[in-house]
This record gives sequence, C-alpha cells and structure tokens, in this order.
Amino acid sequence: MKPQYDFLIVGTGLFGAVSAYLLKKKGYSICMIDKREHIGGNVYTENVRGINVHKYGAHIFHTSNKKVWDFVNSFAEFNRYTNSPVANYKGKLYNLPFNMNTFYQMWGVKTPEEARKKIDEQKKEYHIDNPRNLEEQAISLIGKDIYEALIKGYTQKQWGRKCTELPAFIIKRLPVRFTFDNNYFNDKYQGIPEGGYTALIEKMIEGCEVRLGVDYFDQKEELDAMAERVIYTGEIDRYFNYQYGHLQYRTVSFDTELMEGVENYQGNAVVNYTDAETPYTRIIEHKHFEYGTQPDTVISREYSKEWQPGDEPYYPVNDEKNSVLYAQYKALADAQDKVIFGGRLAEYKYYDMHKVIERAFEMIGEL
Ligand code: FAD
Ligand code: UDP
Repeated sequence: MKPQYDFLIVGTGLFGAVSAYLLKKKGYSICMIDKREHIGGNVYTENVRGINVHKYGAHIFHTSNKKVWDFVNSFAEFNRYTNSPVANYKGKLYNLPFNMNTFYQMWGVKTPEEARKKIDEQKKEYHIDNPRNLEEQAISLIGKDIYEALIKGYTQKQWGRKCTELPAFIIKRLPVRFTFDNNYFNDKYQGIPEGGYTALIEKMIEGCEVRLGVDYFDQKEELDAMAERVIYTGEIDRYFNYQYGHLQYRTVSFDTELMEGVENYQGNAVVNYTDAETPYTRIIEHKHFEYGTQPDTVISREYSKEWQPGDEPYYPVNDEKNSVLYAQYKALADAQDKVIFGGRLAEYKYYDMHKVIERAFEMIGEL
C-alpha cells in the first residue's frame, strides 16, 4: 500500500519548517511532528503582556545572503534591530563586539593606531603564529587584557571547558573592528521579525499536518510507515540509538521573570556577564528586540550546563573528540536512503538561523 504522505518531517524548527515550505511548493504532502507542545523549535517566541519572549534564548536574524533575506521577509516584516550587547565585567561596562569603544573603555586609547599598538604589544609576549585553540586565537586577535576580562570567564561558563580546550573558530564568530561600531554582526542584513518568530514559522508550514507532543522514537515504525521519506532534525546520535556513544552538547536553563511595573530593567536587549563568578552568562530583556513600550518587562537569565540525558541539547560541542564521533554517525546517516538529516542537531553543527535555511535550500533543492 502506498504511504499516506510523501514526507514525514521530524521537528518543526527552522530546518523542518523551511523544508516543509519548499516541499509543499513542489506539491508534496507532508506530516510534521514535534516532541514539544509547540512549533518553531528553538526560535519559538511566546507573547507575554504584549512582549515576544524568546523562550529558548535571544534570536537575532542576520545574513548576507539576499536570497535568504528575501525568503524570510516574505513571511514577516523585519524591524531594524541591530544587536549591540554590553558586557558587564565586575561592575564595569564594555561595548561588544570588540571595537574602538571597547579598546577605549579598556585602555583609554582613542585612535585605531593606538589600539593596534596596544594589542600588538600584548600578543607579542605569547609568540602565537598559528592559533591552535580559542585562547591563542583570542589573544592574537585582541590581546591579553580583553581576553581575560571579556572572554575567558564567559567562555568557560558557556562551554564548561577551558579556552585552551576549545576550537579557535568559536571566537572567530565575533567581529574585531577598529571603528566605533557596536554592531555584533558583519552581515549585510539584520533584524527581528515583527510579531515574533512563531508567527513566521506558522506561515511557513501553513497547510501541513502538524502533530505536537509526539516523540518520533515512541512510535517510529508506525510513523515511518506513514510516509515515503523522512526528514529528521533531532539529535543524530539518538537516531542511531547512541551505538557509538553520546555526542556532547551544552544545555541552557532559562530563568525567565516577569517584572510587573518595571518599564526598562537594563536598557539593552542583551547584557553579558563575563566574569567567571556570576553564575549566569547573560540577561536578555526581550522587549528591546522590538522597541517595546509596555509598562512591564520580561527578562531571562541564561545558565549554561553540560547536557545530560533528558535535557534539551542546544549547542553541539564541536571539539576534536566529538567531531570524530560525529563522523561515525554521519557515515551511518549517509547510508540511509529514505532519511534526510538536517539542521543543528542532525548535522551536529553550530549553525545560525540563516545557515540552517541555506542548508534546507541545498538539501531540499537536491531532491
Ligand atoms: P531546532 O530548532 O532545535 O529544531 C529541532 C526540532 O526537532 C525541535 O523542535 C525538537 O523538539 C524536535 N525534535 C527533536 N527530536 C525529536 C523527536 N525525537 N521527535 C519529535 N521531535 C523532535 N541563531 C541565529 O541566527 N541568531 C541568534 O541570535 C541565535 N541565538 C541562539 C541562541 C541560543 C541560546 C541557541 C541555542 C541557538 C541560537 N541560534 C541563533 C541558533 C538557532 O537556534 C538555530 O540555528 C536554529 O533554531 C536551528 O533550527 P533547527 O531546526 O536545526 O533545530
Ligand atoms: N564570547 C565571549 N564573551 C562574550 C560573548 C561571546 O567570550 O561576551 C565568546 C564565547 O566563547 C561564545 C562565543 O564568543 O561562545 C560566540 O559568541 P556568540 O554570542 O556568537 O554565542 P551564541 O549567541 O551562539 O551563544
């Protein structure tokens, strides 16, 4: 008997939703499931007193890919939000990413030449030609003082590992600039969808059957029998029953608080606490993503922890050990001709939203 659907999509996050939209346009029938009780995966936003709360951490959309930007703008209007986090190190505030404002706040230097000289002086002591880890990469980019105040403690809290044990690429996500420009991203386009990400995802998957609160592995055989092919966006190691062992992830707990009668708690959407002692990494004040003027505010403190079975896996730990293990799972995935593995968890990659969309374009385009 022919299965009822052309595709079963496991996961209603961004990868699942973009795939659903593209397949729907090609005329395929789709059933989507998610183990959570809501759609959207980690980009899910929930309206609290008129404020779109980013339930799984701050999500700022940025890309230089016009095709991706036009695509997301066809589902929602994006505002002009530009991410400019502030770092609080032991009570003193610094601008991020690392730019002339940060250099002035750290050293009192006022020109790019003075800043470069200071950084060169500091990195000379370390003789780093070819940075082998995050610490060496950071020192060779911005010197020892900024590394120690703004990176070392934050990174150790975020990843639960020493900076010497982490790959250099993580810190290269952040721009280093010799201009007074606090924009956290270098991308050409940036913004937040007005009305929140949930509404955007709803539009993408309009017309698809969606079943929430369904864990794929609780009824895998039955669900597989329903469709010709499967798009799987969950953890790759779980799909293969952890047969080579667990991949490591970092999880985050979000301590969200409604502050009634507080109009403006911290004056910025994102404030990072970069010392090692403050237990949380950052505080998000959600209303500032959309220039909210509500009488109340909602904040979330983020606590980063090592993932244990039962926790939500948020960040793949792309170090050497895990990369080797992932390659073993990837070989198994490549041998599955009925299943496509895509997204942050199924590809075990530290993808931002625009990259996930690009991957869905590539993978679904190839079908
Ligand atoms: P997910 O959103 O994780 O979706 C996977 C879905 O599959 C989930 O809904 C899950 O419940 C479901 N699922 C998994 N297993 C099963 C199962 N067995 N059965 C049923 N359903 C299942 N990106 C940016 O561009 N800008 C940012 O500012 C940004 N900030 C971030 C902040 C944090 C704290 C985090 C964690 C990520 C951030 N990202 C950001 C990255 C962004 O969240 C991801 O790129 C994107 O959401 C990944 O989409 P996805 O569909 O691959 O995965
Ligand atoms: N980082 C840091 N100090 C900061 C902000 C970021 O050391 O104040 C480092 C940290 O290692 C982090 C990485 O830069 O994991 C990338 O930061 P980003 O803000 O991109 O992380 P994400 O938003 O993905 O959590």
